[in-house]
Amino acid sequence: MSVQFDQLATRILDGGAASATDALAVLRASDADLMAVVAAAGRLRRAHFGNTVKVNYLVNLKSGLCPENCNYCSQALGSDAPILKYSWLSKDETLQQAGAGLRGGATRVCMVSSGRGPSNRDIEKVAEMTEALKDEYPDVEVCACLGLLKDGQAERLKKAGVDAYNHNINTAASHHDTIVQTHTYDDRVDTIDRAKSAGLSPCSGLIAGLGETDEQLIEALFALKDLGSDSIPVNFLMPFDGTPFEDTWELSPTRCVKILAMARFVCPDKELRIAGGRELHLRSLQAIALHVANSIFLGDYLTSEGQEARADIEMIRDNGFVVLGTEDEPVAPTGAEHDPAIRRRGAGTEVAANA
Ligand code: SF4
Repeated sequence: MSVQFDQLATRILDGGAASATDALAVLRASDADLMAVVAAAGRLRRAHFGNTVKVNYLVNLKSGLCPENCNYCSQALGSDAPILKYSWLSKDETLQQAGAGLRGGATRVCMVSSGRGPSNRDIEKVAEMTEALKDEYPDVEVCACLGLLKDGQAERLKKAGVDAYNHNINTAASHHDTIVQTHTYDDRVDTIDRAKSAGLSPCSGLIAGLGETDEQLIEALFALKDLGSDSIPVNFLMPFDGTPFEDTWELSPTRCVKILAMARFVCPDKELRIAGGRELHLRSLQAIALHVANSIFLGDYLTSEGQEARADIEMIRDNGFVVLGTEDEPVAPTGAEHDPAIRRRGAGTEVAANA
């Protein structure tokens, strides 16, 4: 049975393509076949990205207070999630935050703002931020994620030096209206098309665990393939208290790995990013997932905290991968934090055992 995934990888490496039936077989593979799926998807990952992991850093330029009603989002209209809420960061604050991520190992900065879409004044702000960031860090890749775009806005961002534009389709067209009613799936596709037409690299992905069927997950992935998304963030629903999805928990770590593997088979040469929900849902399988995906966010997400940024980098190195852009740098020696901790609990002590 497990040979089928290796054969699928061979077929794809020979120029073939995964079908919807192949994708479904990956998604529904038994947990006993998990490592066979990972090994096969890993062949595609290594063929296109070697042992590199691209590290991206999120800067939330404007948090919360959004008039849209995306049911999964802690920043949405009606969400009671006790997140940070603030209006636009200044240019200096943005540079400071982005600089922290770049020094931490990121090569791409994703500048995000909540809201339906930017005004032309907002676009000017982001254009100025981008120019300042590129003056200071000429090699940085900038991705903007500002919502639905209007005429001329993508072109202005491109002119300012923005490299990519993120706008996730989030879910299948056939499921979209059940997760948001204030804009349509077509609105989202229109923005991705505008970004592409302006010469921005399209970044669009999905959120798994929104009550979609297996077939709808596959529908969403093939839509991303057809849209030509260069990078595909795969989010796993973080069910924030105070949002309509607060009690939704449909994912397991092995299912998350299979979703990523399916994405790799369908879009073998695209940047596949493990996005929000990585720590929450993959848990101890995060490192296994790196053998399939080739990109992560460093540190924190838009409204939730991730694991320590240093743990992200260690996870990459511990598993034999290198951070993209640092391939030639010597690996820094590990510090005293790796000294064994002396046991001072359990047997021989009055302190409760670690059990
Ligand atoms: S438009 Fe963006 S920020 Fe606003 S609710 Fe939807 S996902 Fe959240």
